[in-house]
Amino acid sequence: MAIGTDSIVTLHYTLKDEAGVVIDQSEPGEPLAYLHGHGSIIAGLEKELTGRNAGDALTVTVVPAEGYGEYDNELVQSVPRRALRGIKDIKTGMRLHAQTAEGTRAVTVTKVIGDMVTLDGNHPLAGKILYFDVRIEAVRAATEEELSHGHVHGPHGHHDH
Ligand code: ZN
Repeated sequence: MAIGTDSIVTLHYTLKDEAGVVIDQSEPGEPLAYLHGHGSIIAGLEKELTGRNAGDALTVTVVPAEGYGEYDNELVQSVPRRALRGIKDIKTGMRLHAQTAEGTRAVTVTKVIGDMVTLDGNHPLAGKILYFDVRIEAVRAATEEELSHGHVHGPHGHHDH
């Protein structure tokens, strides 16, 4: 069957950046399984997989607007170190959860200069063009239970309930 809304898709993928560096990939023997058409994966990839079949291999280029979003400078802020009390050894590259007006947000420490710490609330892949190599292993219809839960059960899905 071809991939459409409510398909359970099992696939192998490699994600590279513009320089060809591998950012992420499925492990051998451990493909990704997801419920298609429900925003479980980024929009640009989901769109290109629609109508494909098991056995297909494809390369998909995803622009930021259909990936992890454009880079937003307004999500970058500098705060005094004392605003992060309780967090020891603040270093560049650390991931923290910061309280903001919109609730808790994951941020990355991008700079530490003297008493000031720069926090970046953008997704680490925001603003990046993403290059996926995808091989579709299997396509099947979701069960009623999977649809009501909104995710995959069984091999490569959720095992814990
Ligand atoms: Zn479930």
